[in-house]
Amino acid sequence: MQLTDSYGRVARKLRISVTDRCNFRCQFCMPTHPVWLPHSEILTFEETLRVASLFVGMGVENIRLSGGEPLMRRDIEQLVQLLAGIDGLRQFSMTTNGFLLAEKAAALKRAGLRGITVSLHSLKPERFSEITGGGPYEKVIEGIRAAKSNGFRPLKINSVIIRGCNEDEITDLASLAVEGDVTVRFIEYMPFDGQHHWGMSKVVSGKEIVDKIRERYDLVPAPRPAGSTAQIYRFADGKGEIGVITSITQPFCSDCDRIRLSADGKIVPCLFDKAGFDLRPLLRTGASDETIRNFMREAVVRKAPGVETLLKKSQQLEHIRPMHTIGG
Ligand code: SAM
Repeated sequence: MQLTDSYGRVARKLRISVTDRCNFRCQFCMPTHPVWLPHSEILTFEETLRVASLFVGMGVENIRLSGGEPLMRRDIEQLVQLLAGIDGLRQFSMTTNGFLLAEKAAALKRAGLRGITVSLHSLKPERFSEITGGGPYEKVIEGIRAAKSNGFRPLKINSVIIRGCNEDEITDLASLAVEGDVTVRFIEYMPFDGQHHWGMSKVVSGKEIVDKIRERYDLVPAPRPAGSTAQIYRFADGKGEIGVITSITQPFCSDCDRIRLSADGKIVPCLFDKAGFDLRPLLRTGASDETIRNFMREAVVRKAPGVETLLKKSQQLEHIRPMHTIGG
């Protein structure tokens, strides 16, 4: 039986934050002084596997691991192996900052992970380090190379574009995608930043991003599959493609098929709504699978309409969840 919300949207993709901890301090994401969850509140591998299996049994086809930084979770390969074995799972991927990827790529591939997205917001080592609060550019590039050589598909790069910071690099970042071995996805800056620097004036719209790339390359829009967060454009002269994630200027909430599980076991049906439905007490007090399934159905039914929920509350930043706590 499918998980359908009150707007008729069906949940097919689950994003699991496996830890709130991160080894980078991206300015647009992490608070200056993050308060980490106590270890005892973070779901164990067994708990995560149980929740994920129940979701897949109710129609979820696609799981993405995120964080914090998912590669910071100890023995992440073991969790990958457990989840990869879930019957009915069609796509299984991870979003990472890439720092530990070169050393872990082969083990992740063996464990059954298929797709990787690496966040890369600048091609200038010094700027990259500044944006990420000290992230070493070369290690991330090595991580991307390792993902390529280990055959992860799809392989994507996420770049958050912020006015006055890195919009001068849009076309150079897009160039990485020309050969077709990696897709570059440009993300509009969203107000989930732990340091509250966000403002509409810092958002570079998807349209502006595409116009900029078109100064160097011919781009052809591709049809958008239902539920996709990105509008994809193909290079007319190449094999590759880029995407724009226009969560602010042109959100795709009406066919959103995503739900999220936080590291401490909350179902978060909508990224733009602070509501979370806490599964952990059920998991830790011996609730039956049927009780948990009912709870999941109820959480999904209450999914908010989307970005409007956030914009209505945009004057109240306490309604906004820092991205590192839920994984993007
Ligand atoms: N640590 C991993 C990483 O860096 O990719 C995974 C977690 S991170 C929260 C997931 C994605 O959210 C990354 O691509 C990151 O760039 C993006 N992100 C974080 N804060 C954002 C913001 N304020 N606006 C848009 N995207 C953001």
